[in-house]
Formats: sequence, C-alpha cells, structure tokens
Amino acid sequence: MSSILQVRRRDRAIHGHRIAVFEEASRPAWLRYAAAALITAPALAVTGLFWRFFQTIPFMPCFFAVFLAGWFGGGGPSLLTVILGALGLKYLFYPSFASLRIEDPQDFVRLLLFVGVGGLGSLVFQQLWMSRRQQAQLLEEAERSRQSAETATRGMEKLLESRKEAEEGLQRLAAIVESSEDAIIAKTLDGIVTAWNAGAERLLGYRAEEIIGQPTSVFMPPDRKKEMDGILERIRRGEHVEHFETVRMRKDGKLIPVSLSISPVKDAAGNIVGAAKIARDITERKREEEERERLYKEARELARAREEFLSVAGHELRTPLTSLQFQLHSILRRIKAEQREKALEVAERAAVQLQRLVRLTEELLDMTRITAGRLDLEIEETDLAEVVQEAAERQQEAAQRAGSEIRVEAATETTGLWDRSRIDQAVSNLLSNAVKFGGGKPIEVRAGADAKYAWLTVRDHGIGISAEDQAKIFERFERIVSKRSYGGMGLGLWITRQIVEAHGGRVEVESEPDRGSTFRVELPRNIAKGAVG
Ligand code: ADP
Repeated sequence: MSSILQVRRRDRAIHGHRIAVFEEASRPAWLRYAAAALITAPALAVTGLFWRFFQTIPFMPCFFAVFLAGWFGGGGPSLLTVILGALGLKYLFYPSFASLRIEDPQDFVRLLLFVGVGGLGSLVFQQLWMSRRQQAQLLEEAERSRQSAETATRGMEKLLESRKEAEEGLQRLAAIVESSEDAIIAKTLDGIVTAWNAGAERLLGYRAEEIIGQPTSVFMPPDRKKEMDGILERIRRGEHVEHFETVRMRKDGKLIPVSLSISPVKDAAGNIVGAAKIARDITERKREEEERERLYKEARELARAREEFLSVAGHELRTPLTSLQFQLHSILRRIKAEQREKALEVAERAAVQLQRLVRLTEELLDMTRITAGRLDLEIEETDLAEVVQEAAERQQEAAQRAGSEIRVEAATETTGLWDRSRIDQAVSNLLSNAVKFGGGKPIEVRAGADAKYAWLTVRDHGIGISAEDQAKIFERFERIVSKRSYGGMGLGLWITRQIVEAHGGRVEVESEPDRGSTFRVELPRNIAKGAVG
C-alpha cells in the first residue's frame, strides 16, 4: 500500500480520478468499521430527538447511516450499521423498552424488513467495494509495471551510456598506446606477443601483423634469452619490474640498448594472465653516458699527466740548476786558486747547463702561450735548408758527445713564408730528440721542396718507438721513456706539432723499436700567394 500512497502523492495533479479509487480502497478496516459503529449513534439520537416525525418510519435515519457507512467503508461496515441500528431501534424505541424482546409481531416484521433491506444494501456496497478493490489492484499493477518499465528503460539508458563511455575510454587508451613514443608490448605468461604498438614497430622493426602470436625470444639476443625467465617468474608472483636495462635485437639484427618496465596483466577475476612491457630506446642515453665517462677519464688522465708533468718539470729544472750551482762554486774556487784554465773549462760546461735551463724555461713559456692561444707567428721569407744547416751545426757538439754525427742533405730551393725562429725551434726539437734517443748512431737530416710544400726528415737509428706509443708522443706531457735514462719534460714534440700546424703543415713519425725513427715535417710554402720566388 505504501508504494501506492507514494504514487498517489506524486501523481495527484495528473491522475485525479484514479486517486479517488485509491483513497477509498486504501482505508484501513478498523477505520471503516469504527466509522460504521460511530455513525449509528447519531442516527439513533436523531430518531429519538425527532420521534414525532419518525414515528411511522423509525428506520429512516438508520438507513441513511447504513448508506453512509456503506459508501465510506463498504459491505462489512454497512452490515455492521444495519445490525447495530436494528438492535438500537429495538432496544430504545420498541416495547418493551430497554429490552431486546419483541412483543408485537408487526414490529418483528418491521425490524426484519429493515434488516433485510439493509442487508441487501450491504451486499450492493460489498459488490461496489470489490470492484473498486479490483480496479485499485489493476491500477496498482499497471503502475508497478509502468514503474518497472521506467526503471528498466533508465537502466538500459545508463548501461548504453556506460558501454559507450567504456568504448570511448578504450578508444582513448588505444590512441594513447598507439601514439606513445615508447614501445608497448603485451605478452602471455609463456612469452607469446599479444599486442604491439607503433612504438614497438619503430624500435624493433617488426610490424604488428608479423609479430603477434610469435614468441618474444624472436627479438632477444641469444645470450639474453635466459634473463626473461627470471623476469616472468617475478611477473607471475605479481611483482613489477622497473627500468631493467638490457639489449634487444631489431629485425635487421642490430642490437639496441633498452630500458624495460614490466607489469603483470590481470583478467577480470584478478588472475595474472600475461605481462605488459614498455621498452625505451636508451641508445642516446648510453652514448651520452659513455661520452661523459670518456670526458671524465680524459679529465682524470689530464690531471694525472699534469701532476706527473709538474714533478718531471721540477726535476728537469733542478738538475741543471744543481749542476750550475756546483760549477759556479768550482769556478770561484779555481779563480781564487788562480787556476784560470780550469775555471774556463768549468765555465764552458756551466754555459751548457745554463743553455739547457733557458731551453726548458722557454718550453714552459711556450706551453702556456700555446694553451692560451697566444702563439703569434712572425711570418717572413725563410729558407728551410738554411734553418736546418744552422740547427744541425748548433747540435753538432752535443751529437758528438753522444757519439753521433749529424749528416745534412738539403736542396737549394726550399724557401717559404714562415716564422723563422719557430721553424728553427721545431727543427731543433727533432734534432735534439734524435741525438738523445739515437743511440750514438748517425743522424740523417734531409730537406727539400716541391711547388707547394717544403719538407724535412730527421732520421735516427736509435731506440725507436712502438706503434702504440707513436700515437701519444705528440700529446702534451707524454714521455714514453723513463726520466732516469733521458731527460725532458714531454713537451718538445707537442710544441713542434703546434708550430707546424700553426703554419698549416703537419708532422708525422715512422718508427720501429730498436731500429730507429724518422720524423717528417711538411710545410706549405704559400707560394700561391705569390710572396715567394
Ligand atoms: P722530451 O722533451 O721528454 O723528449 P718530446 O715531446 O720531445 O719530450 O718527446 C716525447 C717522447 O717521445 C720522448 O720522451 C720519447 O719517449 C719519445 N721520442 C721522441 N723522439 C724520439 C726518437 N727520435 N726516438 C725515440 N723516441 C723518441
């Protein structure tokens, strides 16, 4: 009933006529019977009060009460009113008064008539009520069906909407997966590929049609196949694997470093049925890492070399200084002892040490100049053969001390536009190295030129340089031989290369350990400018 009452309240305005039926049929029984009983009392009272009018038709007010009770409450209440009315009338208005005993048989017939007509009226009300009830039930049912139809329609609408939303969501998701730069791959727990996006195609070279259904081992390098077992074991346990760095093989066989993030895929019941992985190409990152590593190593190496250089330089400077100190004392002693000849001899040796000190200091200064980009060239017309002859002459004495002889073979036409003193410095470096490392054997120096280039070779037959070391000797601070046997700061060849390259030329070495070395310098003559000739 309550649902009907609710409907009634809601629908009052539109379904007015139907509501009347509902209201009457929904009155509780106690109310209908109480109303029937109550209504009898005023009917009897009216009969008594106006007895003079109702003397001949004493049942009239009670009939009216039966009618009201029947209308308000149906057959039952109307019959109750008939019975109460009959009893009341007999009890109050028929002889013998205040008793139910009937003396006059005519009165009995009258009462019987009242009960009979009232009873018939009650039957009519009963019928009326039953049909109202049925109508109410039908309406209620109709209302219920309408409501459930409405609910069903709303449900269906919602369902359709949520289906549409789900579909849109899936489409959105698919679009995201498809447009991802990263490779997104799904596979079963047996490692069979079930999904493959465009990123995966770009990364590994397989198209979705050709790889879906294939085992993932297809794109794993042979030595990496085992690592997947461990990962799949973790996925089966429901774990996630983050940023696992490994290598995968493209369709064309190329290996690419990748970072993998793998998560378990669950079905609707929550069972793990596969794995989804995101693979990112980390070639660039690896390259950057390697580059950083290389730069770091280089910086460390440079720092180490610099340290060593400082200690070597200190040592190199100290050696001639110590000698000089000693020689100066010796000279003083000999002058005091008036041994003039001996003093002169020592002074000459001291001059050589001083020369060495000056050269080392020059090298240090040159290094800082070159590093600061301040190697200024004073270009003038210079004859290479002439420079070589002079340098050889200057080194001749040192060569002789080492047991070597410097042989010069120079062409006549070897002029070019160069910084004369710098070229001299480069040639002298090569010559002094040849003397130093030449093992006391002859040193051959040649100079020549063609139309565009002048060239120079310095050849010794000394200790030679291994192929590995040949690449290093032109670098700064690089000394291959130990400082004990040969002096030097490891700057000479670096400075030589800087000078030659500053002139647009190049320097190279050919050497074999224990067989000797040949250094070759090539300088553009700049004749094209027409300044020489
Ligand atoms: P340094 O002043 O120490 O000689 P250089 O730059 O001139 O420095 O030479 C660098 C290194 O190259 C030397 O320490 C030596 O090991 C090697 N080297 C140079 N010239 C020769 C050569 N003619 N024969 C063998 N080794 C040489």
